[in-house]
This record gives sequence, C-alpha cells and structure tokens, in this order.
Amino acid sequence: MDQENLEYCRGSLQKQLDELIGEAIKTVDGMTNSKDTFPDPTDRAALETDRNFLLRIRDRERKLIEKIKEALDRIDGSTFGICEVCGKEIGEERLKVRPVTTLCIDCKKKQEAKEKARGL
Ligand SMILES: [Zn+2]
Repeated sequence: MDQENLEYCRGSLQKQLDELIGEAIKTVDGMTNSKDTFPDPTDRAALETDRNFLLRIRDRERKLIEKIKEALDRIDGSTFGICEVCGKEIGEERLKVRPVTTLCIDCKKKQEAKEKARGL
C-alpha cells in the first residue's frame, strides 16, 4: 500500500475513533443524568432495559475502539494491510472500506464459513 492510501486509512481510522469516543462519553453522561428521573415503575423498567442496551453498545464500542487503535499501531509498525493468517497483502479497496480488518477476503470467507459450520 502506498503512502497516500496509508494516510487515507489513518485519517478515516482517526475520524472513526474520535466519533466513537464522543459517543461513549455521551452514553456515560446520559446514564448519569437520567438517574432517579423515572419514579414510575413502568418507566423504571423501561430505563433498565435501556441501560442494558447502552451497556451493550458501550461494550461493542469499546471493542471497536481497541480494533481501531490496533490498526493505527499497525500503520505505525508498517504491518498494516497484511493478512494475519496467510501473510498476503489485503486488497486496497477492502482496507479503504474497512481499515480495521486484519484478514484478506479469502481468509475472511474461510473464517465465516467455519463460524457458520459451528453455528455461531
Ligand atoms: Zn489471508
């Protein structure tokens, strides 16, 4: 991957990271502010459901944040764009669309087929 594409991927990773962290802060703020503002039991139940939802989002966000940081590390370490399974270069178009990916399209397909077979 040439420098221009590498910087493009770095830029889009950094943007995604900023957005995710912004969202995560909003989620935490929302949970703090909504404390004890739903005294009705029905509303409280709705809030509990909502909190679980927010927690799940945060978990997913956290995992994605880690993935993005790893991808940025790979850009700095010059291993970005190399498939971690077969060691071949991942297609540039695939990386531009999904820069956090660590697998080439062939390995990704194999992995998905395996997961499907295991019923995941
Ligand atoms: Zn591969």
